[in-house]
Amino acid sequence: MSWLTRIRPQLTAMLTRRETPENLWRKCGKCSTMLYIKDFEENLGVCPRCDHHERIDPTIRFHQIFDGDEFKRLDVPKVPEDPLKFRDQKRYVDRLKTARTTTGEPEAMIVASGTIGGEAAVVAVQNFAFMGGSMGLGVGEAFLSGAMAAVKARCPFIVFTAAGGARMQEGILSLMQMPRTTVAIAELREAGLPYIVVMTDPTTGGVTASYAMLGDIQIAEPGALIGLAGQRVIEQTIREKLPEGFQRAEYLLDHGMLDMVVHRRDLKSTLARVIGLLMRQREAATA
Ligand SMILES: [Zn+2]
Repeated sequence: MSWLTRIRPQLTAMLTRRETPENLWRKCGKCSTMLYIKDFEENLGVCPRCDHHERIDPTIRFHQIFDGDEFKRLDVPKVPEDPLKFRDQKRYVDRLKTARTTTGEPEAMIVASGTIGGEAAVVAVQNFAFMGGSMGLGVGEAFLSGAMAAVKARCPFIVFTAAGGARMQEGILSLMQMPRTTVAIAELREAGLPYIVVMTDPTTGGVTASYAMLGDIQIAEPGALIGLAGQRVIEQTIREKLPEGFQRAEYLLDHGMLDMVVHRRDLKSTLARVIGLLMRQREAATA
């Protein structure tokens, strides 16, 4: 029996033992502090040490935003899958399958309705964990369904953005979601209903170039990366060093691109206040 064969069971036991505490702890993505998951979740997915706002999935977001943890998920019509029969290192259908298994969600944007501080609202949340939150036909359809549900219910439409940009596996069809979502926003405007954007980390590419920048009110979470092209690409193109904190929420607020940067703990009350103000104004205008 070789030495390795002899110690293998001990090694396995050691590794298995280590797995258990790892499920209870996670590392902060910014300051690397080990955080007890329960504390981290109670703190709304924000690091208690450095205030880093971690990316959170749509269901957690809905629980944080809607009153009394009560909300109704909207059914989104199915879209043609893999229309280009695309394949890079992997087939697109396989990438979709993996994303669905790991996130437990059908697509990168989920829509739900409920009340926020007593105000009715439809909320769409983009999920960065699902293929980088990329915008394809499915996200476009979810956005449209959300906007139309808001028009029907005569309530505001709120979108939490998080995306690496367009879904390249859908080529031009993915880019078509930019004008498509823009038209949906125009319909909300025509109905006199508020469209509010909350940009979360990261919001980039075609999403920034369309619905993420068209809100009546533009909010962002602290430290969120927001931009069209990446910093390195811009630096290489203009051959200049970019300023510190460029493309971060606070920098954009200072330069007039945002209305507010709001801490996650204040997000719900801020949204309730903003919706209340805008809806009362609307009622006064239509009375
Ligand atoms: Zn931290």
